[in-house]
Amino acid sequence: VSITVVGTIGIDSIGTPFGHADDALGGSASYFALAAANFQQVNIVAVVGSDLPDAALDLLRASNIDLNGIERANGKNFRWGGRYHMDFNTRDTLFTELGVLATFDPKVPPSYASPDILFLANLTPTVQASVIRQAPGTRIRVLDTMNFWISNTRDDLTDVIRQVQVVIIAEDELREYAGMSNLRKAAQTIFDLGPSLVVIKQGSYGALLLEKSGAYFAAPAFPLNDVVDPTGAGDSFAGGFLGYLASVMAKGGVAQFVDFKRALLYGNILGSFTCEAFGVERLLHLSREDIAQRYYQLIAFTHIEASVPSA
Ligand code: AMP
Repeated sequence: VSITVVGTIGIDSIGTPFGHADDALGGSASYFALAAANFQQVNIVAVVGSDLPDAALDLLRASNIDLNGIERANGKNFRWGGRYHMDFNTRDTLFTELGVLATFDPKVPPSYASPDILFLANLTPTVQASVIRQAPGTRIRVLDTMNFWISNTRDDLTDVIRQVQVVIIAEDELREYAGMSNLRKAAQTIFDLGPSLVVIKQGSYGALLLEKSGAYFAAPAFPLNDVVDPTGAGDSFAGGFLGYLASVMAKGGVAQFVDFKRALLYGNILGSFTCEAFGVERLLHLSREDIAQRYYQLIAFTHIEASVPSA
């Protein structure tokens, strides 16, 4: 068993300047798992409400994702609504209705307790902490979060940061958490708490990799012709990033910095696919060839020979 994720399975209402989707399957665990399952089998720990259609879970089940850790509780499913601005990088959250998430007490099946990678997707920090306790055999613990938890549950979030090796976070959220604008300095406040790697998501500008030792790498986003809906791009980024790393670890390897660099490209690529349709739609129709093609294109788009030809 390589990847266990705890996160939300949501029902989303999304508006962009050019369209909208209501009651779409979303949530941090859904996007993450659908992206990561292209590389390794994924186990989800989550709670869903009585109003989540069975068909939504069927979509996940059909995609190399194990759902034995999903609890169906009596009550309303987690719902989130957001509207994007013209730049597609900024959005307003219109509502966050926790529903059954408010009382979620996760139970990690024993078969999920020793993964190569445990991904604590964006979710209540105390739930993330409980899953850490229940998965003591984990090799790498990775955390994602967002502004909602930074402003509402900061101390609990800090407790979780102290227990992980990798933090994946959007740049504005890192600035908000650290209370400073310089990203290298802001990352240092995370390193001071224990993690050795910070991955900074920059929306349509790509992503940065910062290691405690000072090592640094940057990758641009994959340039798309049409962005339809960026919802879930960050979670899909994490899925591509960690899915690739899990595939390296599954071959018996220990992830090195060069693997993290390659993983950063895969993160950007899975994020780019998600942006091409509303909700999880594009992730449902993705082949390994589609992913491989974008990987080599992204390298070609950014590679330059270091030597200067003589005039
Ligand atoms: P992203 O665009 O990567 O930030 O992911 C958006 C997804 O996260 C949506 O599908 C939402 O259902 C989910 N989401 C929104 N707010 C929260 C929250 N506070 N906690 C967990 N998941 C959330």
